[in-house]
Amino acid sequence: ISTSKDDVYKLVKENGIEFIRLQFTDIFGIIKSTSIMVDELDKAFAGELFFDGSSIDGFARIEESDQVIVPDPSTFKIMPWRPKEEGVARMICDVYAPDGKPFEGCPRYILKKAVREAEEMSYKLNIGPEGEFFLFYTDEKGYPTFDIHDNAGYFDLAPVDMGEDARRNIILTLKKMGFKIEASHHEVAPGQHEIDFKYDEALATADNWMTFRDVVKNVAKQFNLYATFMPKPFTGKNGNAMHCNQSLFSGDTDVFYDSDKADGLSDIALNYIGGLLKHARGMAPITNPIVNSYKRLKPGYEAPIHIAWSTSNRSTLIRIPAARGNSTRVELRNPDPTANPYLVFAVMLRAGLDGIKNEISPPAPQNGNMYTMHNEEIPLFPRDLQEAIVEMKKDPLIRETLGDHIYERYLDVKQKEWNEYAETVHNWEINRYLRKF
Ligand code: GLN
Ligand code: MG
Ligand code: MG
Ligand code: MG
Repeated sequence: ISTSKDDVYKLVKENGIEFIRLQFTDIFGIIKSTSIMVDELDKAFAGELFFDGSSIDGFARIEESDQVIVPDPSTFKIMPWRPKEEGVARMICDVYAPDGKPFEGCPRYILKKAVREAEEMSYKLNIGPEGEFFLFYTDEKGYPTFDIHDNAGYFDLAPVDMGEDARRNIILTLKKMGFKIEASHHEVAPGQHEIDFKYDEALATADNWMTFRDVVKNVAKQFNLYATFMPKPFTGKNGNAMHCNQSLFSGDTDVFYDSDKADGLSDIALNYIGGLLKHARGMAPITNPIVNSYKRLKPGYEAPIHIAWSTSNRSTLIRIPAARGNSTRVELRNPDPTANPYLVFAVMLRAGLDGIKNEISPPAPQNGNMYTMHNEEIPLFPRDLQEAIVEMKKDPLIRETLGDHIYERYLDVKQKEWNEYAETVHNWEINRYLRKF
């Protein structure tokens, strides 16, 4: 049941909503938001609300700076953590150029284009992401500290797990916003948690993921905690992943399943895997976008380092969970929660479709522990952001999927980020070398 414009007006009235937040996601996966009063809704739906796109990182040039945001009524949600009286609701928007054409720099548009291509092949991509994050204490001013909230580990219970109340509240808030929560638990590292919500079509899941991140941060704040999705805050401990469980449907049927095959995996599934593996390196700056992302992808922390797949073990880039029938799915394990979900899903989908169209067979599955294996023939995932940037430039599918606008701005900003990091003298170097030389 999707909310129409008329429903929006009705819900606004019924719930005494005064403020509407209009949200969209920038190229780098950051939510941007502007607030309007409900009287402005007509104007918003009519596409009469302009903003300065050039003030947003990598979004628009100064000469093309006027952008229009148009809310998608189906994304209307009341924000339960804001006051009930004179309440606040939000809608996710599409960004248009002043001439009314979709703006090429809008990540939601890029995903819509990829989804349309799948639809032309009569496929629909469903994605169920797993969300991991850390909780830190805040100081008197409410700023994050580096003081981790608890010392619990995987599946621990209270009182060791001190996050249960915050987690409970996050889940209840998400439920009020229409999420179906499947599971939640304390994760492996201290102060680390995971919440998994039910899969949906790619676009809805990308919208949901942005909402999820927003809710986690806002509810944590109510508990005087700071939630971070940073991939690897601690040396020597597990980091944060955004595993992407994906299945391709044709009508009501999961086309990854084939009951005639011993392992239950269809040729389409194998080709989809083949496509993901082929483009994994090129997709790296999108799936693992920051300098810190690559510190998570090291042996021994349940994060992948090799471009391989498996039906069982958790050290490969792709794992096929045991469920079959309409639950047959491919789990891509390298993406992390700092990625822009719209762009991740778009490149993933197009990589998979490339595999199907060109009948790309994946290599044999690797069912051994890859961390202890030394097989030079298995390619490695890029080891840092610089290598990832080089790989993205070698893969034309990524440029084609992102469009020139995002492709160029994305790489430009990422290269600067890497350069700045590479030019900085880090504490590690001082500690290691100052007294030695
Ligand atoms: N946190 C691990 C990672 O960084 C994943 C752990 C898990 O969910 N099995 O990928
Ligand atoms: Mg999980
Ligand atoms: Mg996990
Ligand atoms: Mg998982």
